[in-house]
Amino acid sequence: MRYCPECGAAYEDQVAACPRCRAVLEAEPPDRARQPEVVHRVPDAAAGALLCGILEHHGVRAMLKSATLPGYGSVRRDWSTTAWGEILVAHEDAVEARALIADYLAALERGGEVRDEDVEGLGPA
Ligand SMILES: [Zn+2]
Repeated sequence: MRYCPECGAAYEDQVAACPRCRAVLEAEPPDRARQPEVVHRVPDAAAGALLCGILEHHGVRAMLKSATLPGYGSVRRDWSTTAWGEILVAHEDAVEARALIADYLAALERGGEVRDEDVEGLGPA
């Protein structure tokens, strides 16, 4: 059996991805309490590093996971044609992380400047 890392549903081995979540199935069932949660998908490494930096700056431990890294799995999610990777945070931080990212993206869409305090301390990826 293989398991959806997002909803925990179990499927036959030949099923590659959860039809509901579109998540690639994993060999182990998820431990929902400790499972990091995907809060955002990013188009490239630079965007991922930037958003992770913003989260870290606000005290949210973020992890950037690239869909192109070896070991991620040969079956890529269907979003991978447009997304480079994803940002994961601890389950309990997910709501805050999504809000921080939404605020940041909303500011960008307004054409606002990225404030210094949003990006300070960010090094190269
Ligand atoms: Zn699922």
